[in-house]
This record gives sequence, C-alpha cells and structure tokens, in this order.
Amino acid sequence: MKIPSLNTQILLGAIFGIAIGFGLVAIGKDSATAQTSLYVANLVGTLFIDLLKMVLIPLVFTSIVVGVANLQAHKQIHRVWISTLCFFVFSMSVAIIVGLLANQIFEPGKGLHLDMLQNAMTNFSAKQQTPADFFTKFLHSLFMNPFAALAQGEVLAVLIFALFLGVALVIGGERYKNILALLQESLEIVMQMVRWIMTLAPFGIMALLIKLMVTQDFSLLSALGKFAAVVTGGLLLHGVVLLPLILYLVTGVKPWRFWHGAREALLTAFATSSSSATLPITLRCAEHNLHVRKEIAQFVIPLGATINMDGTALYEAVAALFVANLVGIDLNLMQQLVVFFTAMFAAIGAPGIPSAGMVTMVMVLQSVGLPAEAIAILLPIDRLLDTIRTAANVEGDMVGSLIIQKLVKN
Ligand code: ASP
Repeated sequence: MKIPSLNTQILLGAIFGIAIGFGLVAIGKDSATAQTSLYVANLVGTLFIDLLKMVLIPLVFTSIVVGVANLQAHKQIHRVWISTLCFFVFSMSVAIIVGLLANQIFEPGKGLHLDMLQNAMTNFSAKQQTPADFFTKFLHSLFMNPFAALAQGEVLAVLIFALFLGVALVIGGERYKNILALLQESLEIVMQMVRWIMTLAPFGIMALLIKLMVTQDFSLLSALGKFAAVVTGGLLLHGVVLLPLILYLVTGVKPWRFWHGAREALLTAFATSSSSATLPITLRCAEHNLHVRKEIAQFVIPLGATINMDGTALYEAVAALFVANLVGIDLNLMQQLVVFFTAMFAAIGAPGIPSAGMVTMVMVLQSVGLPAEAIAILLPIDRLLDTIRTAANVEGDMVGSLIIQKLVKN
C-alpha cells in the first residue's frame, strides 16, 4: 500500500483529532475513557511540542547567523533588512485596521452581562504595567548574556546576539570562514532533525487537537461568542483574503499554490498555538514548498516568528475595544490611534508561545485607561482564539518571505 504524503497525513491527523475530541465530549468528559484518552493525548501532544522546542534555540541561532552572513554575500543586506521591517509593520497595520473596523461594525461586548465580568474580575489580579514599564522591560530583554539567553530559551535575546554575530562574521570575511562553515553545517544538522520530528507531526497534531476539543469550556464560549466571532472573522479576512491578495499583487503567487505549500506550517501553528514551536516547520515550508531562497527564508522567517504577529496585533486591538464596550466607554479616534500603536508594540513584544498575547494585552488596555483586570473575561476563550491568531502570525511570516524575495530581486 502506498503511504500518503506527509501533508495528507497531517491533514488526516487534524481531522481525526477534531472528530475524536467531539466523540469524547459526546460520551462525557468525565468518563473513564475520556480521561484516559485525554491523558494519552496530553502526553503525546506535549512531547511533540517538547521536540519542537528542543531544536528551536539551535535553529534560531544558526539560521539567523547564517542568514545574515549569506545576505552579505549577495550585497543585499540593507535592502533585505529594510524591506523586511517595512513589510512587518505594513502587514500588522493592515491587521489592526481590520480589527478596528470589524469592531466598529459589530460592536462586540455591548450585550454581555457585566456580572460575569465582575465574577471573573474578583478571581484575577492582573500585573499592573504601564506602557513605559513595558517599553523599558522590552528593551532590557533584548540584550542578554548570550549563554544565559540560549540556556533560558530567550528567543528575542538569542536573535539579537545572532544578528550581532552574523554582522561580525560578515565584516571579518575570510578570517572567520571556519566559524561560518561550522555554523552552516550545524544549521544543516538541525534541519535534518526537524525532518525527523516532522514525521511525528500527524500524531502530535491529532493529540493536541483532541486535548483542545475536550478541555475547552463551551458554555463560556457562547457568552463570548460575538467577540470570538468578530476576532475569528477579522483573522479570516486578513489571512484568507488580504494577505493572499497582497502576496498575489506583489509576487503573482496564486493563493491555492501558497496554501498548498504552507499547509503543514499553518496546521502546526493552529495545533501548537506557538509561532516559535512552529518555526522549524515554517522554515521548511518556505524553503522546500514555496521555494524561498535559503538566505532570505533563514533571515525573514525566524525574525518574523518573534516580531511579526498579524494575528496577535488584530486580536489585541479588537480585545481592547471589546473591553471598552463592556465597561461602557466609547473610545475616541485619538484613543483608537493609541490602541493601534500599542497593539502593534504588544504584538512585537509578545514571544511566539501560547497565550503570550494575553500577557502583553495588559499594556494595550492600560494605555487607554481600561482596567487590566478585564483580562479575566478574555482568558477562558484565549486558548481557542490563540490557535487561529497563531496561524495568521505564521502565515504572515511566510507571505513576508515570498514578498521580500520578490522585492530584493528587482
Ligand atoms: N501564540 C501566539 C504565537 O505564538 C502569540 C499570541 O498571540 O499569544 O504566535
């Protein structure tokens, strides 16, 4: 019998995962069968994420150093840098505008009962964090002892050190060619490990989806349904219509061709809710399926996985306005502009891990004087919305790599 391709296996894994999850909810979450299945699914799912995390830091480090060093070989380093950052800011701006408009039209939160907010608020005490505090903390987190950063898995600090090292290698040229060769080979080795881990992806994704379906509290979801629908609709508009349209207009790559190549990464992002954990797969999809040149992919994708988060930016903007609606405050244009900028900054500052956007949400709320405690009402549905916003984040990175490739070629 012919074994189906990895793509098909992953798709089947996702379908089975959702179906089994529904089945377990139907027979009762507390039944012995459901509990045992949940235990196994949890174990398999977390092991899959552990495997991805295992290769994450070596991958970010080597791919950025090698990416920067290779860029110089093409005398394009400035163009790539500038186009990449401009594209990230542009695509996150589009996402936030979609979120703000969707909120204007549908006004989620106006009909929700406030006593639920009260209940939730008593159970949650958010960390008070002003935008200035957040900014200071964010800047300090960029520059760390590289060994501490590597050991503690501080992706952003590792990324910054790798950028420095990459530039130093470029300037040193011939003198450091051995170190560069060593890092290049290390990168190839890590990519080989990624290939092995990917063979387990269908099981990992199936297990994670089973867990998600069984542990989600659907009764709360119905109360927050409108908000969830607006976020989901906005993310879909951005991910299914706008990003592919921008991609098509700039590069001529057709949406279905893009999705076909990007599918593994999108599904993994959806199942893991982590751009960082998905990074090895995103990189593989960009290089192998979408044919982005190595030196572009290895620079744009890891950078994007940490700072380019379209889905998170959109979510933060809608959530802030949702909370404003709940407490009955109408934000004026100026305040919405503040939300625009803080949402982008919060998305840039959020690491690519599950629910990270929730943590940086505090600063967006406080920037316009909303109670940070209101996060409590967003928490119950956060894991569910995190799946789709992470997929949008990862999609933005892959679209970005294709667009940058096109822009620097001309
Ligand atoms: N989970 C998201 C990611 O990894 C970040 C967030 O929005 O919470 O991309």
